[in-house]
Amino acid sequence: MFIAINESGESISLLQPHPAEALKGCFRCDVCKEPVVLKKGTRKKWHFAHRADSKCRTGGKTESDLHMTGKKLLFQWVNQSYETEMEKFIPLINRKADVLVTINKQKYALEFQCAAITEKEILKRTQDYLSCGIRPIWIFCTKNIRVRETGKLSIHAFEWTALRESPDRRSRFLVYLDPYAETLSMFSPSLHQLKKQHLTDISIWNSSINNIIQGVQSGEKTKLNSAGWLKFKEQWRFKPQPWIGKKDATFLKEHMLKKQSDVAFFPAEAGWPVFGYEYFLTPVYIWQSCILLEFLPSVFYSRGGFALEDMIGWVKQKITGKTFRVRFFPQIKQPLRTAVLNYLFLLVRFDCLSYHQPSRTFLINKLPQAAPSLVDGYNKDREYSFQLR
Ligand SMILES: [Zn+2]
Repeated sequence: MFIAINESGESISLLQPHPAEALKGCFRCDVCKEPVVLKKGTRKKWHFAHRADSKCRTGGKTESDLHMTGKKLLFQWVNQSYETEMEKFIPLINRKADVLVTINKQKYALEFQCAAITEKEILKRTQDYLSCGIRPIWIFCTKNIRVRETGKLSIHAFEWTALRESPDRRSRFLVYLDPYAETLSMFSPSLHQLKKQHLTDISIWNSSINNIIQGVQSGEKTKLNSAGWLKFKEQWRFKPQPWIGKKDATFLKEHMLKKQSDVAFFPAEAGWPVFGYEYFLTPVYIWQSCILLEFLPSVFYSRGGFALEDMIGWVKQKITGKTFRVRFFPQIKQPLRTAVLNYLFLLVRFDCLSYHQPSRTFLINKLPQAAPSLVDGYNKDREYSFQLR
């Protein structure tokens, strides 16, 4: 950490130059009041460190130089335009924000997270900040991004929890910092569930600290490569997909077996990436097939149509019953509604549904069916992919 209290009780920040005498004597942590040591190394930035056996709630761990460099950089960038506090302790939640910035009375906690943490931990910290009206802005280190042989980029499960959206709610992004290159980037991840759950295709653009705090994206939005997407559908149809021990896949399999069919024969109208679909951890062709084969028939034969809320209620039941698995997006407004609504509008485009504006009802024109054969299914997938171009 860069800030400690000196013997006269003054706060000393190593980000500002001090005469040599000011850096003599003893220092204490401003949170736990334990003595801290001033480390004047050459390898790392000058910093204060707790003793190894410290019980401090906030600063007990050794910080890496990467973390300190990033934190300092963020502070300097933000401090140029806004009211900014470094290593600000928030007693209410017992946490110390790397950098706390206030813009138009709204407080933001910039957290530069270099080390891997659990999803549970990042979720807890996010909720703590939100509970006292502070918006957390998680900034990850570019070194965490892995490049796979395919050239695709891959991020960790915990990073998804930090997903934010632009003010118009039309794009979602994560933020990465390379402290040594001094570059800040917004990444817009889109999920491809091919081999690994976390495999992603990420579009990157360099951004300014202001854009990052306000959530305004510069750069172009990624468009669906529908021809490329067809490869995923091919895999789901022609390569055996694991289902044992997976409640979502088993649910669909049992449904299909009753009709003398199987999961690979899923309707061609299912398995399409719509905006917001990354909310589901359940593979996209599975949750969408369940909607087409379970939900739609149930309302078709009784009422012929349904309201968005009916469908949301149905999906929510599947989530609480743990048939569908979802991610936690504490900083996205109505993530379920967005994913489901966008899928319904895709079905309108496919002519399966029509939307009746005055009554806000979706009417079912035709019920999607399981594919009669894998080749038929795939041919239809291809037709739809042309339609989406
Ligand atoms: Zn302390």
